[in-house]
Amino acid sequence: MRDPRYDVLFEPMQIGPVTAKNRFYQVPHCNGGGYRDPSAAAAMRGIKAEGGWGVIFTEQTEMHHSSEIAPFIELRLWEDKDIPMLGKMAGKMKEHGALAGIQLAYSGINGPNLYTKEVPMAVSAMPIRTFTNDPVQARALDKQDIRDLRRWFVNAAQRSKRAGFDLICLYGAHGFGIFQHFLSRATNQRSDEYGGSLENRARFVNEVIADMRDAVGDSMGITLRVSLDETIGDLGFSNAELRDFIEMNRDLPDLWDLAQGTWEDCSGPSRFKEEAAQEQLVRGIHDLTSKPIVGVGRFTSPDVMARMVRQGVLDFIGCARPSIADPFLPKKIDEGRIEDIRECIGCNICITGDMTMSISRCTQNPTFMEEWRKGWHPERMNAKGTSQSVLVVGAGPAGLEATRALAERGYDVALAEAGTALGGRVARERLLPGLSAWGRVVDYRAYQIGQKPNVETYFDSALDADSILEFGFENICIATGAKWRRDGVSRQHVVPFPTDAAMPVYTPDDLMAGRLPGGKVVIYDDDHYYMGGVLAELLASNGALVSLVTPSAYVSDWTVNTLEQHTIHRRLAQMGVQIVLNRGVVEIGADHVVTNCTYTDQLTPVACDAVVLVSSRIETNGVYRALKDRQVEWADAGIKTVQIIGDANAPGPIAWATYAGHRYARELDGDDIGDALPFRREIAELAQD
Ligand code: ADP
Ligand code: SF4
Repeated sequence: MRDPRYDVLFEPMQIGPVTAKNRFYQVPHCNGGGYRDPSAAAAMRGIKAEGGWGVIFTEQTEMHHSSEIAPFIELRLWEDKDIPMLGKMAGKMKEHGALAGIQLAYSGINGPNLYTKEVPMAVSAMPIRTFTNDPVQARALDKQDIRDLRRWFVNAAQRSKRAGFDLICLYGAHGFGIFQHFLSRATNQRSDEYGGSLENRARFVNEVIADMRDAVGDSMGITLRVSLDETIGDLGFSNAELRDFIEMNRDLPDLWDLAQGTWEDCSGPSRFKEEAAQEQLVRGIHDLTSKPIVGVGRFTSPDVMARMVRQGVLDFIGCARPSIADPFLPKKIDEGRIEDIRECIGCNICITGDMTMSISRCTQNPTFMEEWRKGWHPERMNAKGTSQSVLVVGAGPAGLEATRALAERGYDVALAEAGTALGGRVARERLLPGLSAWGRVVDYRAYQIGQKPNVETYFDSALDADSILEFGFENICIATGAKWRRDGVSRQHVVPFPTDAAMPVYTPDDLMAGRLPGGKVVIYDDDHYYMGGVLAELLASNGALVSLVTPSAYVSDWTVNTLEQHTIHRRLAQMGVQIVLNRGVVEIGADHVVTNCTYTDQLTPVACDAVVLVSSRIETNGVYRALKDRQVEWADAGIKTVQIIGDANAPGPIAWATYAGHRYARELDGDDIGDALPFRREIAELAQD
């Protein structure tokens, strides 16, 4: 069944004393659950084991209490008490023959210790580097501290072994781990034998790996995750210096895990980075070492993966996001089901779960982090319930996912769409600059639905309550989406503000429909996610003179959580977009807008020819409300349930819509759980005293 071209991906590979069954390597990735939701995180890893990964890692595990990154929720291995939690995870990883890996992190200059209140220790004394510029500085490790730290790593390795792990990853990439801090001259300004020359800067990692080999090396593989390029010029750990380091320490770890410089670079969204974006940085390193190499690159194409191995760039195909979007990626390649792969769209919504310390979700895989909480499996739906038919109204991401998952359960589904294409908002947004990969949300579902004999799709079918009552489906799922508001109401304005009818005012829907303003255009962004920035890019590349005005202190403010805010600002600045921060819009005149300072309310007019309002969206829920008003007629029409989902219910990002569609499909015909919590959770064991 497997295409022989991909056989190379299924070769067993040795990592020190252990052997991976294939080359599919789930590199460490966060999930927003960590120590707070250990069973949810363990079950998520277990699903990947079932999906065929050869190596599965934890997220970063804080290996000693003197360095932690609260409020972010990762894993902790501070004492023996932490072992059972990690043991559960290792057990899940190994259920289907994968190697279980733990990533040990000592955060040094990145750990503000807000929770433990310990004084942070770093390679050199410096201010702590975090997303929030915490007003904390680290003191420098002295010789005794270094001896202690080596011992703590050994303790952590021994505990990892007791928890059942096969592999240890020493974290020294993304600027986050102590190993990189030692290696980089930017963070290592020591004048003793641990600083200065590359040999000196590499001393600590050599010592730790030697200690670990003595302690657990007979049974555990030791891997080192380092940055391919710190991307801060010569001062940092550059790609050239990394190559020198690997050449000087050819066989240091049992495997080199090479990741891009910063997390933002390494997990670059598809808007700015293609698949295999790190290829040039990693190419040729193979010649410098006899140990295997794993690298990442948002790999979803088996052809690209096989090429990486054949050309000697990589030995293992490292995946974080592709393994989240499709935990069964290896199995699907193995079974020759390439078209069933649910490709990651590179939106980075998964990362927002970590950044907001909530719990992660995935736009493509709504079951992510719900494997234990809700018992959702990414490849298997629950059995069909008592009813037979469902009418889904609207073919956006919510309606498409509901249709796909309902069909999988065995319902007869009619999907009615007012327009002439599948995809709703995604069909339009995928045409915006940088967002083409988002179209995979539609492509995956369109293909799956096309394979199902129990789905009928109807285009040009703008349904109203009368027609729905006539059809006589048992269940009606309303997924009719939302439209951008034309009156600017969002956060700054909760009611409309003065607008002169002479000024041409546009919404994102207008622009996506091809109606583009020219000349001097003000984009007022009180939405704060990607749309304002993307439209600025669109108009600027179309020749307009664009000013992006936002009451926030940052352009596309929420994209801090998708790790792209910095890149968006840089892109817009380079395109000549005038970025006006900390200012709102209080009035739209005939030939200008009046902006106000968020802090002082000082008013400034800005002349323009057109205004684009990126404010909030309003639910398209007329059909739903009309049906509710006619509830007395449902029984005669054979209707049992009517439910509204997705943007029509409450607008949100695409991931919220696919989740809503999936949830609808899961819960149809389910038991009424009354006031009970709709998911499982864990609470900390209460101490006796
Ligand atoms: P969501 O993100 O919740 O899936 P979208 O706005 O992406 O929402 O998609 C909603 C889809 O519903 C659009 O394709 C729209 O054309 C369709 N739609 C809206 N109203 C109706 C209706 N009355 N009948 C059929 N389709 C509708
Ligand atoms: Fe990929 Fe987006 Fe899913 Fe993350 S949330 S795995 S980036 S599709």
